[in-house]
Formats: sequence, C-alpha cells, structure tokens
Amino acid sequence: MTRLRCSVELSDSQRLVRDNIRELCSEFDDEYWRCNDREARYPTEFVDLLGEHGWLGILLPEEYGGAGMSTPEVVVMMEEIAASGGGFATAQAIHGGVYNSVPLVKYAHEELKEELLPAVAAGEQSIQAFGLTEPNAGSDSTAIETFAERDGDEYVINGQKIWTSRVDQSDYLLLMARTTPRADVDKRTRGISMFLVDLADANRQGALDMEQIPKTASTAVHAFELWFDDLRVPADRLIGEEGDGFYQVLDGLNEERLAIAAECIGLGEAALERGVDYAKQREVFDAPIGTNQAIQHPLAESYMHLQAAKGLVFDAAGRVADEDSTATGTLANTSKYLAAEACYEAADAAVQTHGGFGVAREYDVERYFREARLTRLVPVTQQLALNYVAENELRLPRSY
Ligand SMILES: Cc1cc2nc3c(=O)[nH]c(=O)nc-3n(C[C@H](O)[C@H](O)[C@H](O)COP(=O)(O)OP(=O)(O)OC[C@H]3O[C@@H](n4cnc5c(N)ncnc54)[C@H](O)[C@@H]3O)c2cc1C
Repeated sequence: MTRLRCSVELSDSQRLVRDNIRELCSEFDDEYWRCNDREARYPTEFVDLLGEHGWLGILLPEEYGGAGMSTPEVVVMMEEIAASGGGFATAQAIHGGVYNSVPLVKYAHEELKEELLPAVAAGEQSIQAFGLTEPNAGSDSTAIETFAERDGDEYVINGQKIWTSRVDQSDYLLLMARTTPRADVDKRTRGISMFLVDLADANRQGALDMEQIPKTASTAVHAFELWFDDLRVPADRLIGEEGDGFYQVLDGLNEERLAIAAECIGLGEAALERGVDYAKQREVFDAPIGTNQAIQHPLAESYMHLQAAKGLVFDAAGRVADEDSTATGTLANTSKYLAAEACYEAADAAVQTHGGFGVAREYDVERYFREARLTRLVPVTQQLALNYVAENELRLPRSY
C-alpha cells in the first residue's frame, strides 16, 4: 500500500519521533483499529505501548522523567498516530494524557509535581480527563456554573459537566470550576479555578455520578456526562491561583490546537491513501476507476489542501514559542480550521471513490469520514475558530 504523507522538511528530532512512532504503530493492524471502533473499545494496548516507550511524557521536562520535547515534535507524533490508520480516535486516546499534565508543570506546587509527574511520564498514572464543557455553557466557557466553595482546607464542588472524555481511563480529572460567580467578577474570564480531582477518591466519597454519552464518531474513546454532589477536594489540589484557571487553560491552548490540527492532517492522509489505492486497483468499464478525472481531481484537490494545511501547521509549530498571544491564536485557529476542512474533504473524496464500499466497515473510509466530521466540531467548532480570526486579526466587532 502507498504510504502517503504530504512533504515537509523535518528536523533531526522530528525524524526521530516520526520513525519511532511509525514503528510502534506498525505493531497494530487495521483490524485492530477497526475492531476498537466497532466495539467502542479503548486502544489500551497501544496507549500502554506508547507509555512504556515514554511517549506519554513527550512534553514533560526531563527532570520529571519526560522527554523534554515541544510542539514541533508533538505535531509529528500526533500526525503519525492518526495517519497510521488509528485515526482521530487513537490520537484522542493519547492526546489527553499528553496535554492535561502541561498545566501541572507550569502551575502545580513542587511537591505535587514530584509526586505525580514521573508516574505520568512512565505511563503508570494518568490525567486523561479534562472537564470544562457544561450543558448550559457550551462554547461560552466562562458561563460554566460548576462551583467550588472553600471550606477549611478543602473545596466542596457541586455541578455538572458534559462531553468529558476518557474519565473511564483516567486516574485524575483536571476540572474547571467557578470559585466566584460570573456576576461578581469584573471580567467574565476571572473567577474560574483549576482542580486536580482524584477519581478514585471522588468515587469513594460517592460524590461523582457519570453516564456515558453514546456517539457515532471516535467511538473507541468514551465521553461522559458528570455530576458532582458535594465533592470534597483538598485545597492543595487547586492548581495555580484561585480565580486564574481560565488563563491557565488559555496558556497552552494554542499549542494544543496545533497538535489537533496535525491529527486532522494525519487522518486526512490516511483517508487519501485509501482513496488513491482503491482508485488504482478497482476496475470498472475495463479500466481502473482512477483513470477517470472525476475520481482523480477530488483526490488531487484533497492532496493539495492537505499539503497546504500541513505546511502551515508545521511552520506554526516551529513559531508559536516566539510569537505574541494574538499571533499564536491566529496561527493555531487558522491551522485547526484549515486542517479540519482538508481532512473532511479527503475523507469525503475517499468515500466517494469507494462507491458502495465507501460505507462498508472493512474499507475503513467510513470510519475516517465519521471522525473527520467530528474534527469540525472539537475542541472548538470551526465557527469559533473563524470568530477568533475575524475579531483578532481583522479587527471586526465581537458578535457575542
Ligand atoms: C466527542 C467529543 C469529545 C469532547 N471532549 C471534551 C472533553 O474532554 N472536555 C471538555 O471540556 N469538552 C469536550 N468536548 C466538548 C467540545 O469542546 C464542545 O462540544 C465544543 O466546544 C462545542 O460546544 P457545544 O457542543 O456546546 O456547542 P454549542 O456551543 O452549543 O454550539 C452549537 C453550534 O452553534 C455555533 N455557535 C455557538 N456560538 C456561536 C457564535 N458566537 N458564533 C458562531 N457560531 C456559534 C457553534 O459553532 C456550533 O455549530 C467534547 C465534545 C465532543 C463531541
């Protein structure tokens, strides 16, 4: 089968990551990814293998047992995982474990870091779950209502979250809650705090209820609705400053969006690879269907758009550390938007190329298509990415 990757120049460390991740991914065949999707089964073996090889700690500093790498290496890793056939679902199974520990590095107190981060880097403990979204707030994150009230040396948390991924695979939940009501802060982004919740402890207290949300894309990674009822969290599990949690999330957000953009590129490449192979091999009217330009052109267009988006994503990954926050926001939102559009286009072209087999599970492109559609919704919708650029780059008035 053709190994299809759009071309970009890689550094030595990026090549090292690519080769290592590609080798680990090659231990899993398409039937493995397909089966995980069909049975809504978490890719435990794959996640464990990456943990054993230290890749879950790719962003953790070496002093905590991590690889001490940064965004340029992460985009390569995430692209490669998705492109291997694992798709967006498998990338999502890794993604949370890689990113949720980043705020801890920046904001947690030293004792907690020393206790937890080496175990996270070794894949022994996981912070796979991040709870921000709420049913009554949606994209307007500052409207969250989950509330943490200080009571002595604890916080008491009540409220509800929705779409919290991987809670069933995680030891800890990074939870965002209001510590001051929105009505009482001068700026709506203030008064939100970040907590590290020990999920075993929450269950022991009987203070956490959860219900899985049945869904049709990235089925291997489960998402949940959560309810907190007088959940007691030790005050030393407040991460960073009380009331500054929203800014702490924003801090690493743009680099995380670039990683997700790279996942979109990888998924698009996997879909395109399948489309091209099928176009060469399937014969109708005594010729390969790929002879027809009606088949060739959508595939070629997808390649061009993936190539352009990948160039931007990898370039942005190398620049974010040096740009100001508005410029990185524009780079990250533009990358995520274009990569998700290119991914969706490639998956759609691959399905069309397969004719009726485009919806047959055994050809995988229907799975890629479902996941490609999801990439236009998460972690922010395409409209919210456009809003950012309209407001911050084009200086158009904010509509909301
Ligand atoms: C599979 C999956 C996994 C997820 N995992 C997590 C997770 O682990 N943790 C977490 O916290 N969240 C998670 N999410 C939530 C995700 O981040 C949100 O679904 C997303 O941010 C959109 O919010 P919403 O679904 O409430 O849509 P809404 O905010 O209700 O938006 C609905 C529609 O209206 C549009 N819209 C709303 N406001 C505007 C506006 N001002 N301008 C233009 N258009 C607008 C949106 O673009 C969208 O098309 C997950 C979601 C999914 C589907």
